[in-house]
Amino acid sequence: MEVAEIRVRGRVQGVGFRPTVWRLARELGLSGEVRNDAEGVLIRVAGGSDAIAELLDRIQLEPPPLARIERIERSHSTATCAPGFRIADSMGGAARTQIAPDAAICGDCEREIRDPGERRHRYGFANCTRCGPRFSIVRGIPYDRAATTMSPFALCDACGGEYRDPADRRFHAEAIACPRCGPRARLVPCLSPGDPIDQAAALLRRGAVVAVKGLGGYQLACDATNADAVSRLRQAKHRETKPFALMARDLDVIRRYCAVSPDEARLVTGPEAPIVLLRATGHALPTVIAPGLAMFGFMLPTTPLHMLLLRDIADPVVMTSGNLTDEPQIIDDREAIERFTGIADCVLTHDRAIAIRVDDSVVRIIGGVPRVLRRARGFAPAAMPLPPGFDAAPDLLAAGGELKATFCMVKDGAAILSQHIGDLEDARTFDDYRAGIAHYTALFDHAPTAIAADLHPEYLSSKYARETGLRLIEVQHHHAHVAACLAENGRPLTAPPVLGVVLDGLGWGDDGTIWGGEFLLADYREARRLGSFKPVAMPGGNAAVREPWRNLYAHLIAAGLQPHRPHALLDAMIRNGVNAPLASSCGRLFDAMAAALNVCAERQGHEGEAAARLEALICQRTLNDEDDAAAYSMTLSVRHGLARLDPQHLWQAVLGDLESGTAPGIMAARFHKALAIAVVTMTCALAAHARFETVALSGGCFQNAVLAEQTERRLREAGFAVLTHSLVPANDGGLALGQAAVAAARLIR
Ligand SMILES: [Zn+2]
Ligand SMILES: [Zn+2]
Repeated sequence: MEVAEIRVRGRVQGVGFRPTVWRLARELGLSGEVRNDAEGVLIRVAGGSDAIAELLDRIQLEPPPLARIERIERSHSTATCAPGFRIADSMGGAARTQIAPDAAICGDCEREIRDPGERRHRYGFANCTRCGPRFSIVRGIPYDRAATTMSPFALCDACGGEYRDPADRRFHAEAIACPRCGPRARLVPCLSPGDPIDQAAALLRRGAVVAVKGLGGYQLACDATNADAVSRLRQAKHRETKPFALMARDLDVIRRYCAVSPDEARLVTGPEAPIVLLRATGHALPTVIAPGLAMFGFMLPTTPLHMLLLRDIADPVVMTSGNLTDEPQIIDDREAIERFTGIADCVLTHDRAIAIRVDDSVVRIIGGVPRVLRRARGFAPAAMPLPPGFDAAPDLLAAGGELKATFCMVKDGAAILSQHIGDLEDARTFDDYRAGIAHYTALFDHAPTAIAADLHPEYLSSKYARETGLRLIEVQHHHAHVAACLAENGRPLTAPPVLGVVLDGLGWGDDGTIWGGEFLLADYREARRLGSFKPVAMPGGNAAVREPWRNLYAHLIAAGLQPHRPHALLDAMIRNGVNAPLASSCGRLFDAMAAALNVCAERQGHEGEAAARLEALICQRTLNDEDDAAAYSMTLSVRHGLARLDPQHLWQAVLGDLESGTAPGIMAARFHKALAIAVVTMTCALAAHARFETVALSGGCFQNAVLAEQTERRLREAGFAVLTHSLVPANDGGLALGQAAVAAARLIR
């Protein structure tokens, strides 16, 4: 007979952890108690030492689905335990525990809403300790019903019974609800007394645009096979070409349109239920859904409401964020009804408020590894432990970037990266960003001593950081990218420097010029630029970001080649350096190449569109079978101690291929290979002088699967260890984590 105290840390509250321990302890004949406290979960247990050991094993082997155990510590106790095992009352404070992300409806709740014998049959708000809303309904701490947007709904007797019964899977499910006592759906305008969800479904089938109140914000839906409806939605949203996300009632529907690997199926059906980018095969959908792309972004119904809405719809529906152009997704009911007038034919809403905006996440499998491209619902605000050596990190805030903005808090040695917020240039989005920081600060009881920000003088996030009055730590854009990659891979603080290869759009460099194709010898504290792509003018500045032809023009001039049609104004801009800043950007090289193939040459409707369409063009045969010698090539040279990749030969070959009428797909393949080969050439050349064995790949260009796969494979073949992103976006959505790691590393010193 032994008495032990077991301390469990991590995401262990509000996820059904105590009843799991209770069940296991009873099965093993142990006595004692389990309780929540400010540190997590505390178990005091008495019994045979074998049984206690088995309890520990089984807690780790069969934790409840939404739990994330960070650490379990066992110590000897001299306390005595009464016979039996009980769940004790919580001890106040939840500041050090984590708030779980929202989770898609679980199998048990799904069965209930489909079963006419269940009291939650066809109830749009069923949930339990294994599924349902969490982060999106939390207003404060500690996490209990009173601090959520469920507080106005008083439990009925039946729900109260389930809530108090440790054997029930709704034991202490804070969002517990049923048709008698919980939230209700409502259709605006109200058309008839029938079921609002069924009416909305009927409208969708007839070609209507329906606004739907989802888990973390409103969405706009329409029949994806109805080209008129999709076009109408695109026009109404003022959204030019950015692809629309799709929702299907089950995997079989998705498989009619896309290839779904077993790994992709697991992602689609997992509790995070993100939008997964899948290769389009089989049936076609209207091109207006994802213009110029060879992929669709699909998700499954994430809530009972979505499940019931799609129940009788055999086709996919568009399910896009409910916003106009670049504004934040709408979460307020009155605003939704006001602003969706003229866009949506009706609004399917309900009376459970959304506490914070959480958009749908986007994931793509690249090289067999899931890569989170937009980290929001299902992922945020999960804490990520910082790597070894960061235990002494002070609490701080990182302000992130400008596009795809996020922020990041460091607290108790862990990083809490916010959900995707959006592009801060939009005033409403910037308001949302500031409100988000305030919300997290209160929720996590956070008191930062310093703030990290990008070097860029004009980023609104950097301006915000300066205005806080906190100690400011400026972090170079591409250094932050590398540090984010190191941090998410758990690379220790004291590990030797890596070569960070950052292929990106635009970021402010150490030298006040614009960078974006960088080779940095970096650890968490410092980064030294060893090489880059050759800087080329961006005639028109921001206009060159929107209009790829400008980059083609500048690249041809820089390569000493003659553009197809001379342009006196651009010539003068480039020659005189007026409104034509130099940028060593890989993103702009992608734009130039796209323009050469007449892809989005005049204009791209959203960031990265030209590059994404170029990837979609690639001829797979050329990619896989053509000899490397046929790929384009970049020349490596060293000037003023800095290695440069010059695309002059690449452009000569491109013009030759254009002249001989080579197919665009072949040219796109040769271009992607050229970039990957150039990265390896540069890396090998730098390795001859600088000491590194590991290469960290980051930057928005690595959302491109072909570039990422080719580069990773070739670097590994050349003998390097390669670190890449998975949980954190390679794009600017990951900057805040990198800034946080750099700032923490500098403060620990
Ligand atoms: Zn459930
Ligand atoms: Zn009830």
